[in-house]
Amino acid sequence: MNSQLPSYLHDEQVGPWAMYLEQIERVRPHLGRLATWIDTLRHPKRCLIVDVPVRMDDGSLRHFEGYRVQHNASRGPGKGGVRYHPQVTLPEVMALAGWMTVKNAAINLPYGGAKGGIRIDPGQLSLAELERLTRRYTSEIGIVIGPDRDIPAPDVNTNEQVMAWMMDTYSINVGATSPGVVTGKPVSMGGSLGRRDATGRGCFIIARCAMEKLGLQMEGARVAIQGFGNVGNAAARIFHAHGAQIVAVQDVAGTLYNPRGIDPVALGEFLATGASLLDYPYAERVANDEFWGLDCDVMLPAALENQITTANAGAIRARLIVEGANGPTTPQAEDILLANGATVLPDVLANAGGVTVSYFEWVQNASSYFWTEQDINERLDRALADAFRGIWQVSVDRKLPLRTAAFVVACSRVLEARALRGVYP
Ligand code: GLU
Repeated sequence: MNSQLPSYLHDEQVGPWAMYLEQIERVRPHLGRLATWIDTLRHPKRCLIVDVPVRMDDGSLRHFEGYRVQHNASRGPGKGGVRYHPQVTLPEVMALAGWMTVKNAAINLPYGGAKGGIRIDPGQLSLAELERLTRRYTSEIGIVIGPDRDIPAPDVNTNEQVMAWMMDTYSINVGATSPGVVTGKPVSMGGSLGRRDATGRGCFIIARCAMEKLGLQMEGARVAIQGFGNVGNAAARIFHAHGAQIVAVQDVAGTLYNPRGIDPVALGEFLATGASLLDYPYAERVANDEFWGLDCDVMLPAALENQITTANAGAIRARLIVEGANGPTTPQAEDILLANGATVLPDVLANAGGVTVSYFEWVQNASSYFWTEQDINERLDRALADAFRGIWQVSVDRKLPLRTAAFVVACSRVLEARALRGVYP
């Protein structure tokens, strides 16, 4: 047993949390006097494990395990999504919550970091079962969430409808309609314009900023995307609309490649009919493990963590890796990419567009005054471009990889607040 780990984790199940801790270790030497507070980032503030009993359509009762981890609240309430996936575990949710702390601080949003999840394959549930699951989970975590405490949002396999059920359940339990308790809601009930595409748009904005620095052209840039969910789909459309070519797409069904470009709008419409990616006629099928070695300029992993590993990092030819997913690259794989001259745009910056527009949604809910989509997109562009500029400068000045630079900027903000607030009692 690793003595650095909390007693509720065993070595063999730490996965992403170990990766997060390693990233924290890499920033420690660059924090100056604030390094004395760094252990605060190695310990999630609060981990709630809940039992979620669900009456299934056939009358049987099943129990699912749910989590809500509040990693840090030094700079504001917890903030982060909720994922439904069969591989969700406590250490995974802890890592995702830790990354939210860093991401929110990297963009200077007034939030701490949190994340939630339920270990379940939502594809196996009917819509009515999914609703009962969501409502019971919301009710169980109701003791720790709230517009001033911790604000959930969509993540892998959750969407606007799930947020609508969460908002309704919380509101009924507290006896007042409370739109600000979740973000990523449908626009018709207090959601924000621009939120749906915000994470993918953010990937594009951060990639565009980096390409300007690196002297790479967006026009004709060849982009390979892993994952065609909320993030990958929106990113593909926005890159395409700005002249880039989507040359490869991989999802759970398999991998498609077309060196002349795949139209992401047509592909999205094709998949929306329920068809499999592999049946899309305007691209060639290739083996999944060939994806990483495909000839492209930009690689956009937008699925799950732990995808770029020492097993495939050496094959990657892209100049730019844009982390649409959280934690897609292991620290050892990142070392290989950097040694090969690639630039890695870290998740805490590259996919921060979603939570940035979540913040705009929360501000709009608090003031009951709504902004135009143009206003949202302009503010998003400004927020991300400013964050990019600051992090890039730290990276150049201190000769650090962009991830470490992002962690320096973000962790300094969190630990400064931590030091000023002090330890109670
Ligand atoms: N789940 C998204 C993320 O990982 C969005 C979180 C949010 O909007 O609170 O950043």
